[in-house]
Amino acid sequence: MTEEQYRKKMQRRKEVQEQRLQERSHEKGLIIVHTGNGKGKTTAALGMVLRSLGHGYKVAIVQFIKGAWEPAEKAVFSLWPAQLEFHAMGEGFTWETQDRQRDIETAQVAWNKALTFVRNPDYKLVLLDEVNVALKLGYLTVEQVLSGLDEKPADSHLILTGRGAPPALIERADLVTEMTLVKHPFREQGVKAQPGIEY
Ligand code: ATP
Ligand code: MG
Repeated sequence: MTEEQYRKKMQRRKEVQEQRLQERSHEKGLIIVHTGNGKGKTTAALGMVLRSLGHGYKVAIVQFIKGAWEPAEKAVFSLWPAQLEFHAMGEGFTWETQDRQRDIETAQVAWNKALTFVRNPDYKLVLLDEVNVALKLGYLTVEQVLSGLDEKPADSHLILTGRGAPPALIERADLVTEMTLVKHPFREQGVKAQPGIEY
């Protein structure tokens, strides 16, 4: 390719790029789903939490299933007391309680807490971590969650993470990413959960 050809090619590319940018000019509050069996559903959501905090937005996180969040995430979250609300609601779930009725009640309490943030226009981003798992286990109904989505203000974003997102939720969402498991050192190498990587 000659210098001249290269220059022309890049000029065309620039024009196409500018055209695309013009076509995509409006903003929209998104319903985002991170699902699948690969690692990264929660951490990708936390990346968006980080970005939102950087813009000065208010963010709420409701954690539905007890995980390995503390103490690292909590220590970081506590640095933004004015912007970030964090509620770990999945305390003592399922294999620990072995009491389905109690698990359903715990999930319902978490859902009601989540709704207070979902409806509140002050919160630009709400993260419902592992809510898909609560759905999969039947602690929440799909209808209940879908009608909760109707209450989201038009310019707020909502992220729902967890394996096994139901088809109706995927259908309803604007942005869906399925993490694909290719390798995980826990499986192939027996490496345990490590600080900084898993919690
Ligand atoms: P992360 O919080 O690291 O983004 P995740 O949200 O995608 O992971 P979860 O289903 O919430 O995944 O599981 C949380 C924990 O399980 C994490 O410690 C993660 O590293 C680990 N994990 C995720 N996927 C796998 C897998 N395929 N095999 C083994 N462990 C996994
Ligand atoms: Mg997760």
